[in-house]
Amino acid sequence: MHDVRQIAGLFDMRADFVDAQPYGSGHINDTYCAWYDQAGIRIRYIHQRINHLIFKDPASLMENIDRVTAHSLARLLDQNHPEARRRTLSVILSTDGKPYVVDREGNFWRTYPFIERARGYDEIRTNLQAEQAAKAFGEFQKLAADLGGKRLNETIPNFHHTPKRLQALQDAIAADSFGRVRNCQAEIEFALSRATDCRKVTDLIAAGVIPERVTHNDTKLNNVLLDDVTSEGVCVIDLDTTMPGSVLYDFGDMVRTATPTTREDETDLSLIGIRLDRFDALVRGYLDSAASFLNRAEIDHLAFSGKLLTLECGIRFLTDYLQGDTYFKTKRPGHNLDRCRSQFAMVKAIEENLERMEEMVQVAAGSLKIVAAA
Ligand code: ATP
Ligand code: MG
Ligand code: MG
Repeated sequence: MHDVRQIAGLFDMRADFVDAQPYGSGHINDTYCAWYDQAGIRIRYIHQRINHLIFKDPASLMENIDRVTAHSLARLLDQNHPEARRRTLSVILSTDGKPYVVDREGNFWRTYPFIERARGYDEIRTNLQAEQAAKAFGEFQKLAADLGGKRLNETIPNFHHTPKRLQALQDAIAADSFGRVRNCQAEIEFALSRATDCRKVTDLIAAGVIPERVTHNDTKLNNVLLDDVTSEGVCVIDLDTTMPGSVLYDFGDMVRTATPTTREDETDLSLIGIRLDRFDALVRGYLDSAASFLNRAEIDHLAFSGKLLTLECGIRFLTDYLQGDTYFKTKRPGHNLDRCRSQFAMVKAIEENLERMEEMVQVAAGSLKIVAAA
């Protein structure tokens, strides 16, 4: 446990620190919930140590988060949103005006007001949760859509550049440093035969058909806080990977994580399928908030994006398997290969249902009477 009281003293809190405990089930950063006394009223804040082994440039990451959250808050206040300060994270500055502090050991810390009466869920249970989470991510993108000024910092370059991920796989195959290529011929063949799919979105971005926007890039259910009473998506959190990207990366990753019938490392491939009712809930929730700013090409590729992000993730697991399991933590030999197989089984399931999924998108878009640009 860190000396949170000492860290807290470096922020412009305007309240008296009472105590702090580790909080939440995040895997990346160290998160603390701290209680404060503000003129006799108890309020709490989140203090978070940024994992600088993963995020090598915390200052530029925090610049992104500060700009995006300040802009979102300004938009919500423009709209006279009654709960503006609950609908976006906001960054508490340090006593010297920075969006972070650095402690004696060189750790970077940030502070957010605690979003009350809402929580994140590690596992998705209902279609309502899926719908509300998707709606909240759409809202997040929408609030950030007209962010002015320079391009956001690309904190992880080429994060979702699928052709580069495929190239990395091809390099790992050529190197075959662990002699594992012979164990996964079918998976290699599966990935390489989908090279055209891998290029589709990056080509459309290069052609200007799909715009670059502000995207979240970690659209798991537990990165949205849902209201304790209404289940409404209240606030998108965990903004470390917020950077320039395509909205399709955010939506596709929601499909990848929220619609499978099994866990990510299911080894009985016959159990793996896509829940179309869940997909429909995601589409309806997402378009409810995002349809007003998306263009036609983005809407037309929503179903495909689920396939793309699942394929990309499978390619990454396969690459890591070939490279000796250095990136993703594994719990057993062959774990990354199992994960790859389950992602690819999911790709197949999406391919088999793609037409129906595309229909769902068009029906949802139609019912919202979208008049998107061609
Ligand atoms: P992940 O493993 O998803 O990358 P992480 O380590 O990056 O997680 P966060 O998701 O930012 O950490 O935060 C961890 C948990 O702390 C969240 O799941 C949420 O429960 C809680 N949390 C974070 N920020 C807030 C906030 N402002 N208000 C209330 N709870 C919060
Ligand atoms: Mg998180
Ligand atoms: Mg995170």
